[in-house]
Amino acid sequence: METTHPKKERTFVLLKPDAIQRGLIGEVVHRIERTGLKLIALKIIIATREQAMGHYFKDDAWCEDKGSKTVAALKAAGKRPKKTAIEFGRDIVRALADFITSGPVVVMIWQGNEAIGVVRKLAGGTEPTTSDVGTIRGDLTIDSYRMANVDSRAVRNLIHCSDKPEEAEREIKIWFSKDEQLKYRLLNEEILYDINLDGILE
Ligand code: GDP
Repeated sequence: METTHPKKERTFVLLKPDAIQRGLIGEVVHRIERTGLKLIALKIIIATREQAMGHYFKDDAWCEDKGSKTVAALKAAGKRPKKTAIEFGRDIVRALADFITSGPVVVMIWQGNEAIGVVRKLAGGTEPTTSDVGTIRGDLTIDSYRMANVDSRAVRNLIHCSDKPEEAEREIKIWFSKDEQLKYRLLNEEILYDINLDGILE
């Protein structure tokens, strides 16, 4: 079986409308670019509802997991939840689609060794107020589950990035045609991936 070289791993990244409105496109691209990952595609667009719902295609287990936080928060506040955890989770999916169609987004494909894990590490945990210092979400914004759930909206956390290779390939198909995905060599790649490094000394 043919295996793909690790340096060919790809991840899909979407800068959400809050990143564009906050003037953070350059900052986020800079943080990713300086790791050595290669930018394969990039465009600014207004997402269609169809793209947004296709992108946030979440199963019942995901909805239950997310919705159970809302149920627990309501119970902790002494209120009786009027919906099941799955229904609350589906509300989050709709809220996410509302959010990413509310204004322009920047979509990108980045390629390189462990591209998915590297961008997830830079992005930080889902909730900005508890994401690590030094991460995109931890450094550059302040939203929380509590505030988003009180206001029945998606957490505004600047960036989406794929969480596994199959997801990355599924997401890339939603946002990019084949001819938008560039094939080229970066000089960076010599020092990151070349086996012998025999072209440096004169
Ligand atoms: P990510 O991979 O870190 O983006 O997190 P997930 O895939 O679990 O969730 C997708 C997106 O849904 C997140 O980036 C948030 O914008 C939003 N989200 C996740 N969990 C919650 C939640 O409990 N409440 C609300 N309101 N939004 C959430």
